[in-house]
Amino acid sequence: MIHIAIDGPSGAGKSTIARLVASRLGYMYIDTGALYRSVGVSALKRGFDPADAQKVEQMLPSIRVTLGFVDGIQHVYVNEEDVSEQIRLPEASMAASAVSALPAVRRFLFGLQRDLAAAHNCVMDGRDIGTVVLPDAEVKIFLTASPEVRARRRYLELTQKGNAVDFDQLLQEIIQRDYNDSHRAVAPLKKAEDSVEIDSSDMSLEEVTQRILAIVRARCGGTK
Ligand code: C5P
Repeated sequence: MIHIAIDGPSGAGKSTIARLVASRLGYMYIDTGALYRSVGVSALKRGFDPADAQKVEQMLPSIRVTLGFVDGIQHVYVNEEDVSEQIRLPEASMAASAVSALPAVRRFLFGLQRDLAAAHNCVMDGRDIGTVVLPDAEVKIFLTASPEVRARRRYLELTQKGNAVDFDQLLQEIIQRDYNDSHRAVAPLKKAEDSVEIDSSDMSLEEVTQRILAIVRARCGGTK
């Protein structure tokens, strides 16, 4: 199996890029942020604080998170309910960031990520894929962009979907999430030593995709 790990801060374009790279290679795209979001949304639905370790841990045995693919697009299910839309709401981002700091949640989702990778050539994106989940991935990319560029991209994405959002609030949330993600005790966001860093601030999606495909070709030879 060939595995491509794409890590980096929120809004760097990981999911769009990972999806493009996966489709060009005919690999499965696995969005691990969606898994953390689904746990965060489950906590919100039950009406408790996603940072409440005890409550979240108690909830875990009662939820079953699964991934499915409809027309090649990843859908996330919690106990058979499709939560793919709910996990994209702004409150789901903070909830995901809060639950992802809990070791029990990381353990809970680790097995699912490893099982998927064991069965498929895949492009997996997240925060700790190259460092923790797939330390032996053939290709590791650390994708970054400035906080302002990332906030602008998120703003456009959300307003295009008809959500009313405030740019400054989005920027503050991005800065806060970066801080949370890189300062937590378990699996903090950090660049794997053997990863290639790409700053996408001034690059188009196609340029980033081509750069990654070139790295894959160089590392994995005849793969594509
Ligand atoms: O990538 P996305 O913004 O969907 O991720 C939501 C949150 O889930 C992140 O802010 C991060 O805290 C967490 N996450 C993580 N490890 C991953 C993927 C996401 O901790 N592999």
